[in-house]
Amino acid sequence: MEPYVILKSVLMFIALIGAFGYFFTKVTRLYKIMMAVDGEPKPFVDKVGVRIKILFTDVLGQTNVRRKLLPGLAHTLIFFGFLAIQPHSLELMVKGVIPVFDIGHSLPGLYKFYLFTADILGFFVLVGFVYALYRRLVIKPDYLTMGRDANLIILFTSVIVLSFHFINAFQLMMPVKADGFSYAGVFPVSEVFASVFGLGALSQTSILIGYELFYYIHIATILGFLIYIPGSKHLHLLAAAPNVFFKRLKIEKAMKKTDIEDEEAETFGLGRVQEFNWHNVLNLYACTECGRCEELCPASNTGKPLSPKKIIHDFKVDLLDQSDLLLNDKKDEIQPIMREGSELTSDVLWACTTCRSCEDICPVNNEHLDFIFEMRKNQVLMEASFPLEMQETFNNMENQSNPWGFSSDSRADWCKNMGVPLMADKSQAEVLWFVGCAGAFDDRGKKISQATTRVLQKAGVDFAILGAEESCNGDMARRAGNEYLAQMMIQQNVEIFSQYKFDIILTGCPHCYNTIKNEYPDFGAEYEVVHTVDYFNTLIKEGRLNINAKDFGALTFHDSCYLGRWNNIYEAPREILKKANAGSLIEMDRNKSTGFCCGAGGARMFMEETIGERINNERAKQVVTSGAAIVASACPFCATMLNDGIMETDQQIPIKDIAEILDEVTG
Ligand code: SF4
Ligand code: SF4
Repeated sequence: MEPYVILKSVLMFIALIGAFGYFFTKVTRLYKIMMAVDGEPKPFVDKVGVRIKILFTDVLGQTNVRRKLLPGLAHTLIFFGFLAIQPHSLELMVKGVIPVFDIGHSLPGLYKFYLFTADILGFFVLVGFVYALYRRLVIKPDYLTMGRDANLIILFTSVIVLSFHFINAFQLMMPVKADGFSYAGVFPVSEVFASVFGLGALSQTSILIGYELFYYIHIATILGFLIYIPGSKHLHLLAAAPNVFFKRLKIEKAMKKTDIEDEEAETFGLGRVQEFNWHNVLNLYACTECGRCEELCPASNTGKPLSPKKIIHDFKVDLLDQSDLLLNDKKDEIQPIMREGSELTSDVLWACTTCRSCEDICPVNNEHLDFIFEMRKNQVLMEASFPLEMQETFNNMENQSNPWGFSSDSRADWCKNMGVPLMADKSQAEVLWFVGCAGAFDDRGKKISQATTRVLQKAGVDFAILGAEESCNGDMARRAGNEYLAQMMIQQNVEIFSQYKFDIILTGCPHCYNTIKNEYPDFGAEYEVVHTVDYFNTLIKEGRLNINAKDFGALTFHDSCYLGRWNNIYEAPREILKKANAGSLIEMDRNKSTGFCCGAGGARMFMEETIGERINNERAKQVVTSGAAIVASACPFCATMLNDGIMETDQQIPIKDIAEILDEVTG
């Protein structure tokens, strides 16, 4: 064997062992960090078959990524192209160490088909990069990270693909192998490279030198990339697939119940990085920094300091910065996440409306709210730190079981003389209507409740309410981090529910709906919970409500976050509105899963909004832009927020709850 071949073999062996060894050391450390955190882990794996299918659709099929058309297509081209050239690169590495390795030549048909496909798909990577560069250099969306990391990755991968084509092009210029194997016709794109760069005119020596040169460039860049991945944002290449595999299978989700009775617990919620659970850490590793979450976030969009992308990034940086303490059993020296100099300030934490736009759009299925909820819990329960104005709201909920502080005895005053039965009088009914605090005390909400009553009465529904026995559902307190208070109110409701007989719980408020349906089961209360839009839709379909459609003009529907993104209810309200309105049903640009929050969720309804533009004003502008003559909603909080927002415009667009619209069109 020639000395050069022996030298190359030794060099390649050392380079491969060194690079892969370093890569595995770094990945092992990341894994150890993931396993060293103390947070209560999620249940491990269920429905493995379903999860494997999701890997095929979401990761291999790139369905999540392609929800954003052009960037998604570019990512798909890069993903498949890069994947396609890897076996060839691996073959080149092995050949570098073992020159006689020639597996491809023993399966010439299959091998040529693979090379042909890889050569074309490899070129697609370059096409994808052209768009990626255009986006970075020309479009420059605010939410996209433009750092050195992203540019280096584009450079690395471009060099890998270009050198791949040059290797192929030089290969084409070499004489046919002794075994008769020819590369003619298998590199359609690289053949163009060869012709464009005039490789055919080179001597055989130059061709050999050119081949070797691009071989080393290719392998060195791949190995450099390999070393770079675990410490870069491209860690998602390793973590995204497992993160998707372990994702929540249902859209509906409950906030984690904290055992506040646990006397041995040293802390509650998330205050330091060791309190993450392993799935949280996987979320951090999986983030691609694509910025889609920030693009849709109502807080980011209205000038608040909150960016869901940055939160995830900052958590990751903090975790890795403090990982030595984590791994060396010095957890007691770990600094709080919200500390002097930290960019995660209380203005960031409390700006979130919990709308879930970020989670819904995230291509790797990150769950930002798992972090935000737990951090709020920690701030309230451990640090007694929360927006000042929430103190009064907490007091009101504690004393009167509603956020406004109205006397709890007056909870049923809204329906005086309407013939609304109380559960305390009937003890059983087909429908237990959980009216909620807004429906019982807020002026706008009371009108919606009165309309709901009339609709139920017209349909002859056997229903009853709890009246003064009802407590706040707990949503506001929980999402504001006050788990003690939330659990106190939840327990009171659970106790009252257990005293009566009913088939379903009906709610007109998406927050009551979500909490009772998805979170009360953790407190032993498992009931069928139905929102009024679904219930009314069923009544219409069963012929129990007769509609005489009225011309409301161009009508648009504002999706409540807790009905839509939290519970996947998008169609029922639209079905009702199509029947009730003789005019047209139009959509705002941001609708259904990309619907823009009204600004009230996550207890924001009861907090000052002093930074940036008010979220409800921004939504009101979107209403005006849509050209709608009227807006329908299905949440008393949305109705109030939108109404306030519209008043800030020069338009007079009425906001009506679906119950109010149905009340108008039913006899
Ligand atoms: S839940 Fe909504 S407001 Fe909160 S970070 Fe996500 S997108 Fe922003
Ligand atoms: S959290 Fe998800 S949506 Fe947000 S930047 Fe990371 S990958 Fe993109």
